Amino acid sequence: MPQHQPTPMEPLVSYYNNGNGDSVCDIISWFEVVSQNAGHVQTQLLCQILKQNYGVEYLKKWLGNYNILEMEPCALESLFSSVVPLASHADFDPYIQRIADGETAPLLTQQPITHLSLSSGTTEGRQKFVPFTRHSAQTTLQIFTLAAAYRSRVYPTREGGRILEFIYSSNRFKTKGGLTVGTATTHYYASEEFKIKQHKTKSFTCSPEEVISGGDYKQSTYCHLLLGLFFSDQVEFITSAFVYSMVQAFSSFEELWREICNDIRDGTLGSRIKSPKMRKAVLEIISPNSNLASKLEAACQELEEVDWFGLIPKLWPKAKYVYSIMTGSMQPYLKKLRHYANGLPLVSADYGSTESWIGVDVDPSLPPEDVTFAVVPTFSYFEFIPLHRHEKGFSSGGDDFLEDKPIPLSQVKVGQEYEVVLTTFTGLYRCRLGDVVEVAGFHKGTPKLNFVCRRKLILTVNIDKNTEKDLQLVVERGSEILNKAKGELVDFTSYADVSNQPGHYVIYWEIKGKVEDKVLGACCTEMDKCFADHGYVVSRKTNSIGPLELCVLERGTFKKILDSFIANGAALSQFKTPRCTNNHVLLKILNTCTTKKFRSTAYT
Ligand code: AMP
Repeated sequence: MPQHQPTPMEPLVSYYNNGNGDSVCDIISWFEVVSQNAGHVQTQLLCQILKQNYGVEYLKKWLGNYNILEMEPCALESLFSSVVPLASHADFDPYIQRIADGETAPLLTQQPITHLSLSSGTTEGRQKFVPFTRHSAQTTLQIFTLAAAYRSRVYPTREGGRILEFIYSSNRFKTKGGLTVGTATTHYYASEEFKIKQHKTKSFTCSPEEVISGGDYKQSTYCHLLLGLFFSDQVEFITSAFVYSMVQAFSSFEELWREICNDIRDGTLGSRIKSPKMRKAVLEIISPNSNLASKLEAACQELEEVDWFGLIPKLWPKAKYVYSIMTGSMQPYLKKLRHYANGLPLVSADYGSTESWIGVDVDPSLPPEDVTFAVVPTFSYFEFIPLHRHEKGFSSGGDDFLEDKPIPLSQVKVGQEYEVVLTTFTGLYRCRLGDVVEVAGFHKGTPKLNFVCRRKLILTVNIDKNTEKDLQLVVERGSEILNKAKGELVDFTSYADVSNQPGHYVIYWEIKGKVEDKVLGACCTEMDKCFADHGYVVSRKTNSIGPLELCVLERGTFKKILDSFIANGAALSQFKTPRCTNNHVLLKILNTCTTKKFRSTAYT
């Protein structure tokens, strides 16, 4: 059958997916066409969102006096950006709360909202509700299929192979008004689209639904590992949403491997798997395999000798690559992942949020440090607020960047940093996402974004301003000294302590390996010196900010932090270690688990 030839006018949501998951043309050709015409596609898409939601309460306030149904897309686009204000989540919260409570009048969308997603809340410190619709699941399917198509050009995989996926659903619950609440990934894993994706990409996850949605991440991780090994000769690649959960799974494997091998030998499941549904589903899949168990045991014994270097290719010899989000706050885990992967390609996954998918990695051969994301102009209407760094020494009383007027996607410039603003099919209008991105170039006519950091200023005592990215660079420099002394940084976070004058930064480190105090003291001083922000340097020199403090934590502290987030409803799939915190629960854990403290001797 001849392939359907895409045209730029076709690209709106329903185009690629004809409803039953069959593609009507090659998805890469489709993406090339929509990217070529990205500006035009965006204008049409905004028009579609606004006309579809004509008369909803939120928009009535701004657009109520205009007959938008009769307006041309271009005129509507300029009207929209001139009369509808920029908003943040707080502006949508009251509407979403009313929807959650069961109000059925069209508040944000004309289509009734039946599901709400929970953002991880680990970066903002607070979970947010975001509407989730069929469109959200469809765009997830589209980006996964698109990304898989680009990957398979560089790293072809065998059709019908398996994927070892460290994925986790959170528990879902109902609101007072009967809406289903869960993380966006939870809704997706439970959707038809997730099944369609496996068929479309012709690769199947090792774990059944009961493991993914088991509700207890420790039991799920055990079963993911067990099944991944049971199918080890079929696994084509290994993945997780964020790389954190994969590294976490392999570090648990270092402790669990004997038990897992025993279960593979006997075709059983140890008592640590308590969920009856999970037990039943896994036991239906596995059968005793003593040959495999002995082979795995021998491999693990060898791996243990070399501190698990090369674990992935040794245990999954047919895996072609590892695939996960490795950018932004996930970058600190790359070192450990590279240790496990021993040269196996690391492919950085796409850019999105609970609110909307944003961009796809069209160059999967690039190392994670160089990855950019080509904006998919059919997902949402994107605007970009130009951000400018402050002049040296300039203080704006708390904000981190100077802003210009938001511009549409078609006007962004290479090299400029922006905050992303979203107008979605799910009822968010001009909502600031809080992410800082830099335009690195263009894919046809659509911008390729480099993820810089969360916009929220993270470390500040007075005129100093350090973002997540600044902290990350400083910690990298400090940990170079640690690595030379054969220590390994497991994870880190920070806190601006202003409880005593002068205020100072506290960096918390969990480390592996025995390291002398004098080395840790040197790490602390090095980090203090490496904060390059002018406000910090000046304040340190004048002692209006005190010496940096390094608190070394006992092993397992970050696992405790993860458990505390999970106990409060976060899902492992979405978890991101907060890089700076003033959350009391977290600080209590950190301070209770501190075993040693060091103060910098820089600037003395
Ligand atoms: P959540 O709100 O829990 O859905 O998390 C979404 C946030 O995760 C985004 O706003 C980004 O800050 C971060 N994020 C998502 N994808 C990526 C990526 N590919 N690289 C870096 N950060 C990402």
